[in-house]
Amino acid sequence: MDFKNIISHCKEYGFIYQSSEIYDTLAAVYDYGPYGVELKNNIKQYWWKAMVNMNDNIVGIDAAIFMHPKTWKASGHVDAFNDPLIDNKDSKKRYRADQLIEGYAEKIEAKIKKDVEKARKRFGDAFDEEQFRTTNGRILERQSKIDHAINTMNAHLKVSDMEGLKSLIEELEIACPESGSRNWTDVRQFNLMFSTQLGNITGEEGKLYLRPETAQGIFVNFLNVQKTTRQKLPFGIAQIGKAFRNEIVARQFIFRMREFEQMEMQFFIQPGTELEWYEIWKAKRMQWHRSLSVPEEKLRFHDHDNLAHYANAAVDIEYEFPFGFRELEGIHSRTDFDLASHQEFSGKKLQYYDPETSESYVPYVVETSIGCDRMFLAQISLGLQEEVVPDAEGKDSTRVVMKLHPSIAPVKCAVLPLLKNREELVNAAQDVANTLQPYMNVQYDEKDAIGRRYRRQDAIGTPYCITVDFDTLEDNTVTIRDRDSMEQQRVQIEEVASIVNKKIDMSSILS
Ligand code: ATP
Repeated sequence: MDFKNIISHCKEYGFIYQSSEIYDTLAAVYDYGPYGVELKNNIKQYWWKAMVNMNDNIVGIDAAIFMHPKTWKASGHVDAFNDPLIDNKDSKKRYRADQLIEGYAEKIEAKIKKDVEKARKRFGDAFDEEQFRTTNGRILERQSKIDHAINTMNAHLKVSDMEGLKSLIEELEIACPESGSRNWTDVRQFNLMFSTQLGNITGEEGKLYLRPETAQGIFVNFLNVQKTTRQKLPFGIAQIGKAFRNEIVARQFIFRMREFEQMEMQFFIQPGTELEWYEIWKAKRMQWHRSLSVPEEKLRFHDHDNLAHYANAAVDIEYEFPFGFRELEGIHSRTDFDLASHQEFSGKKLQYYDPETSESYVPYVVETSIGCDRMFLAQISLGLQEEVVPDAEGKDSTRVVMKLHPSIAPVKCAVLPLLKNREELVNAAQDVANTLQPYMNVQYDEKDAIGRRYRRQDAIGTPYCITVDFDTLEDNTVTIRDRDSMEQQRVQIEEVASIVNKKIDMSSILS
């Protein structure tokens, strides 16, 4: 389904609303509606279980959003958590310089793809894409333009050369996507942290930041957790929580927001073992995604071209969103940068005494960091489909169905009396719903014709619909309809809970 329809579906069916809509919205901030919050909670639960419950040596915490301001000095965020900002003087639109250059490269890449597809049609079965890409003159020329733009940009970014970025934008003749104007301001660094002020302290001293990542709450608690849980290295600390970034260009719905949620895990290890653990966590995290039935071709690894100041290896797990492959999760080998830096700034030792080697040292860290909202978007855009219904006519010949993995579906089953004006059917259906409620999220629905109710449940991804009809009153059976196959089966009421539970049970994808 195309991206515009995904966004409108999310609103129409109560998954996501724009923040403060009655005040004309607040850009890049979103609220999760009744089905959205269920799906999001299930995604968080899947992550938490996989990380914390399934690993003896990983424990969870829930640190506060506000932290001592020195935290952000030590972590490097005050000095280096910047994006290169540029304004167009005519349109007054604001952009990230690196994104303008990447946009230029993406346009050329799209032309290459077109050339490849044309050639594929022309040469048929004999077509060898690899050979075509490496020998065709026009493609090579286009590729060299991309390489030049990206390599030059990376070189400038590495040394924070803002003038270099501006010259590159001029050299590539990049125009404002809104107005076509090339009348640009200089490029300048823009810090992405939101700040606020403590009530009882004036000036810089009382300046607080809203955390731009959850990781630092884990680092500053490293010794507390290690001592109180008596963990030995290697061990991990996991956390789910809000993070805030003053993104310059926030677009693509919940992909890039100013307030979002992260699910992060810091794995503390012996120095020298980090690349080994980095590979292990890369594999484990990819498996986590695949277990949710995400097709192989929708996910890929992408090594970082520019390593952040704290990392000695970094990779993204990219997902093919409706607007292309983009970062969904990051896996970073952060060395001892964070703990060593907090040790220096706080003056407190943050070392681990290793009983096996009788040495004390600052552990190294491998981090896995995934945006909960991006995971949500990935699942919605994968699941939402418009499909042809066999043997149906007119407006019933197609249906919109959200094929979410049943373990994360917001509503697990819907209980529907065939008719709402027959008290005996309504009572029986409510009884069925009441018995299922303690085990799962159940929805009772009696409004509209049964076919429309099925479609409504399809649209929110409910794996099963249970229909109570006149036979139910005779023999205690109901029909159970499968969301994906649309097939209906007649079963005893007592069997319903175990049929549904089997399908929605998360343990099958965790183990
Ligand atoms: P990007 O390059 O897309 O800005 P990043 O490399 O800055 O992302 P990290 O700092 O590695 O992202 O953050 C870890 C994860 O947090 C990302 O993989 C992403 O899923 C999520 N994330 C980061 N920024 C945002 C945002 N503005 N909105 C939603 N999710 C975000």
